[in-house]
Amino acid sequence: MKTYDWIVVGGGITGATLAYELVKTGFSVLLLEQHATPQNATRYSYGGLAYWSGTTPLTRQLCQEAIARYNILSQELDADIQLRELDLLLTIPADSQPETTAATYAQCAVRPHLLSLQEACDLEPLVNREAIAGALTVKHGHIHPEKTAQAYIQAFLRAGGEMQISQVLQLCKGGVQTNTAKYHSAKVVVCAGGLSRQLLKSAGISVKVYFTHAEMIEIPPVDLRLNTLVMPANLQRFQLESVATQVDELWNQPDQEITSPILDVGAVQFLDGSLRLGQISRVLTNPQAEINAEASEQWLRKNINQMLPSLGNLSGNWHHCLVAFSNNRLAVVGAIPEFDGVHIFSGFSNPLVFVPPLAQHFANFAAGNDDEIISQLNILT
Ligand SMILES: Cc1cc2nc3c(=O)[nH]c(=O)nc-3n(C[C@H](O)[C@H](O)[C@H](O)COP(=O)(O)OP(=O)(O)OC[C@H]3O[C@@H](n4cnc5c(N)ncnc54)[C@H](O)[C@@H]3O)c2cc1C
Repeated sequence: MKTYDWIVVGGGITGATLAYELVKTGFSVLLLEQHATPQNATRYSYGGLAYWSGTTPLTRQLCQEAIARYNILSQELDADIQLRELDLLLTIPADSQPETTAATYAQCAVRPHLLSLQEACDLEPLVNREAIAGALTVKHGHIHPEKTAQAYIQAFLRAGGEMQISQVLQLCKGGVQTNTAKYHSAKVVVCAGGLSRQLLKSAGISVKVYFTHAEMIEIPPVDLRLNTLVMPANLQRFQLESVATQVDELWNQPDQEITSPILDVGAVQFLDGSLRLGQISRVLTNPQAEINAEASEQWLRKNINQMLPSLGNLSGNWHHCLVAFSNNRLAVVGAIPEFDGVHIFSGFSNPLVFVPPLAQHFANFAAGNDDEIISQLNILT
């Protein structure tokens, strides 16, 4: 019977990155992922890196560390993660005041620049000029999220880490029970994305980590060119998350819809010409809840058509996944009080930018070193 130092549950970007950093630090690590080809949040992500968005000393430091980390990541992992810089276009609706919207970004490390209607349409000719009053723009990082998670996993395996395709059914003393075997470890870290809450709850652990049901449309490679990564300047998702986390007890009720769904029109094109168009977010307490795919796809396409008319009718496939979030717009990271050996690394609002540096800090902390970032993240309230 082998006892690992760490078991990492979940092979999305959070679990893949943390497993790699733990093995690199010298731990023996087992990574458990339930699906051989996960249809997870990492798989359907836009891949944007909001380096510019730090508003506090902590988030600004993490953004700086993320830039340095990403710049050497393809080389270190020996795989192309398709890192590049992209213009972000934050659209301002036709009935809004551009200056008022711009002021909401005043605290950012790099403040997005306000564009007139004409400048916005010059930067992104596919945007409907009737739908916007203007836009904000800033340089955004971009990666291929699935390739990045895979690159981390392959580097983890080369460094001596082990991985099994197996579903964790229960966290137990000294390890986990899965649908195929019992695995033993000194410590377990839950990186199960939108399923983290449910998994912890099954062990009697209550943690303020939540999830949305997210929906998007994936378009296979097309000749048409989208220049920018398009998102609304005023993301409704943040309001949704704030409303949804006000009463934690509501999340213990099965089959609740805590608040109405929202739709933030967004679009990005990958280097191979494929597009991801989104995004609907629903707050349903049942992670297995059924979504009416046909009605959802119609709602998405109608709104995309209004903002980006040449994209809304392209043929593609509707997808659904769960996206974790927390009540502090940052993350839920650390040891679970009163549950010896159980940790969580989930609920990130801006995971793709924060996860690589935070996973390094977590591994440093796990090795017994003082870590100023992890101590500041004492957020398991
Ligand atoms: C349309 C869309 C666009 C987005 N755009 C961006 C963006 O531009 N920038 C950004 O930073 N973020 C973005 N996000 C959010 C980001 O993609 C996710 O928050 C992030 O990928 C989550 O990673 P994760 O590892 O926490 O979860 P996931 O990728 O969901 O991975 C969790 C994994 O855990 C596994 N798992 C769960 N339970 C178990 C179990 N019991 N046993 C074994 N395995 C288990 C699952 O199978 C899954 O593979 C976007 C999300 C969506 C949907």
